[in-house]
Amino acid sequence: MIKKDKEKIKKEYLIKIGRIKKYNKAYYIDSNPIVDDAEYDNLKNNLIKLEKKYNFLKNDNSPSSSVGFKPSKSFKKANHKVPMLSLNNAFDKDDLKNFEKKILNFLSLSKGYELEYSAEPKIDGISASLYYKDGSFIQGLSRGDGLTGEDITENLKTLKDIPKNLKGNDFPSEIDIRGEVFIRNSDFENLKSKFANPRNAASGSLRQKNPEVTSKIPLKFIAYTYGYVNDSKFLNQNIFLKKLVSWGFNTNKFNRVISGIDNLIENHKKIEQQRKELDYDIDGIVYKVNNFDLQKRLGFAGNAPRWAIAHKFSSNKSISEILKIEIQVGRTGAMTPVAKIKPVNIGGVLVSNATLHNEDEILRKDIRVGDIVTVERAGDVIPHVIQVDKDKRKKNSKKFLFPKKCPSCGSQTVKEFNKITKKFDAVRRCSNDGFECEKIAIEKIKHFVSKDALNIEGLGKKIVENFWEINLLRFPQDIFNLDYKKISNLEGWGNKSVVNLKNSIDIKKKINLSKFIYSIGIRHIGQENAKLLSKYLKTPNNFFNLAKDNLFEELISIDGIGDTQINSLKKFFLNKKNQIVLSELKKNMQIIEEKNNFESGIFKNQTLMFTGKLTGISRAEAKSLVEKNSGKIVSNVSNKLDFLVVGEKPTMRKVNEAKNLNIKVLSPDKFIEMISVKDS
Ligand code: NAD
Repeated sequence: MIKKDKEKIKKEYLIKIGRIKKYNKAYYIDSNPIVDDAEYDNLKNNLIKLEKKYNFLKNDNSPSSSVGFKPSKSFKKANHKVPMLSLNNAFDKDDLKNFEKKILNFLSLSKGYELEYSAEPKIDGISASLYYKDGSFIQGLSRGDGLTGEDITENLKTLKDIPKNLKGNDFPSEIDIRGEVFIRNSDFENLKSKFANPRNAASGSLRQKNPEVTSKIPLKFIAYTYGYVNDSKFLNQNIFLKKLVSWGFNTNKFNRVISGIDNLIENHKKIEQQRKELDYDIDGIVYKVNNFDLQKRLGFAGNAPRWAIAHKFSSNKSISEILKIEIQVGRTGAMTPVAKIKPVNIGGVLVSNATLHNEDEILRKDIRVGDIVTVERAGDVIPHVIQVDKDKRKKNSKKFLFPKKCPSCGSQTVKEFNKITKKFDAVRRCSNDGFECEKIAIEKIKHFVSKDALNIEGLGKKIVENFWEINLLRFPQDIFNLDYKKISNLEGWGNKSVVNLKNSIDIKKKINLSKFIYSIGIRHIGQENAKLLSKYLKTPNNFFNLAKDNLFEELISIDGIGDTQINSLKKFFLNKKNQIVLSELKKNMQIIEEKNNFESGIFKNQTLMFTGKLTGISRAEAKSLVEKNSGKIVSNVSNKLDFLVVGEKPTMRKVNEAKNLNIKVLSPDKFIEMISVKDS
């Protein structure tokens, strides 16, 4: 390599070291990180890769071979008798296999040897070492740089979880108990304004000058290992953890002894799923070789033990850039800003959109196009932007101006005033409440056919959008008069799928009143309120005539219906387009009272049975429709059976038996037709 290239690489390397040192100080000393962990880990990994690739970079000062940060000058310093080190990380099965293989090789054990591990949730707090002499707590140190820690004895003494005197009499006369100081997520809620996350809150509260301040913060302590001990007679980690409990410490209730990589992975999966329900942050599971003799033989390599590894959970955060901010208009006119971001992999999913929630959120966080942001994707929640890196903002960046007119129909937008909270809504809305606003209309149709509403199989959101584009849909009633010929010519639509769609729609023409009220999507009228209204109004006509008979004020007598719902109903009925939609739906559908239906359905006193695959309707739904129509489902062909519905690939034995007994055999189409037949 030529000298110039070497210099360039070295310069790049030193810049990375400088940045890591700056981040370490902010994180370990100031308890106020300036980048999130994903970005930090990325930078550190890059540094390690550079060192591995270019031997000439090896540097004793490198953060890749050190732990934490040198202790703060604000505290007295003290040396750890046994260093407090870091842990190596594993992210997948291969990393774990590699970890085990190295241990077996090191110990010269055969490939099939079953190592036993202590698997312990890795709490994301800060570690502390507590020195006990003859059972009394003498001195408490932070990890510092692993060799020298900060003397935070007085602060640690304020923690209820740290015994001043050990219980029992079987403790060594000198021992360092090590564990994690942390804060519960629920307690962090009150400290949110001061710290970025629970870990920083724990670190900041513990490592400050005045113990009285520490005593006011509900810090917790969980013990998990020992450092120096003058007389070690424990056989393994598991026994030691039990001892800790007998001496008066808390240990983690999810600690387990496990053998075999597959079992470690299963436990990891299980705890990762439970993670969101825990009241404290964990970022992985630590595996420690259970046997202390083996631990001693394995010892340390670099700044981490050979006998332990941290199996991290997949990160649910990442860094990206906002390319554009789009405004989406929802069914109720709510304008939701959505950031189009540079696609980024978060926990195995490629994310390119992140919600910015509402206008107030943009203002509060001052989010702009071009910003470098942290995006989080947790569970089923829509990915969202949690933080803006203002240091990385370009000088010419401009504040994002939230549109004051609806981007879909150009109407005025409003932020409503809530009389009860005396605050303006955080959400800005399009003032158009009907089908005049294109985006609102599409969303209303999507809602009309959605799972909790009409639940039309085969008419998902994307298909509604597609049908809208080619003018097949403009209003909810259009679904009952679709141009099937046109649909069958569309790409991806065969005769069978068209028939299925038609069946799915036909069967949903009959609907009970509460579901109908919910389906038309009146703001503030969700499923529960729709049920209350239908129970009170009883007949569909009473609902349709709400405006004509001016029954609105009467509705206040319904427990659960208030001014907000009544005003929303009034607004809905005042809109002429909504009135047209209602009368068209009335023409096309059969809206019924739930109660009547149960008493006198078309299958009253009759039994039905299904065989084979039905088209356009699931078996579960078909059964529930039979029950709603007072029929009974049976599972055997006998002379008590009234109808056998025969779908695709039926059990021929059942069909033949039914024919022999002269039982009526129905095709799925005929069954759907019977269910949808209008009561005269
Ligand atoms: P580590 O957090 O990866 O692992 C070691 C620590 O695990 C121990 O010190 C202990 O505190 C903890 N632990 C919890 N439960 C344990 C158990 N049962 N047994 C043993 N240990 C247990 O290592 P580290 O060196 O402390 O820190 C690295 C981490 O800190 C990285 O995840 C990094 O992202 C983060 N960091 C972030 C920034 C930033 O600026 N955002 C800066 C520095 C470090």
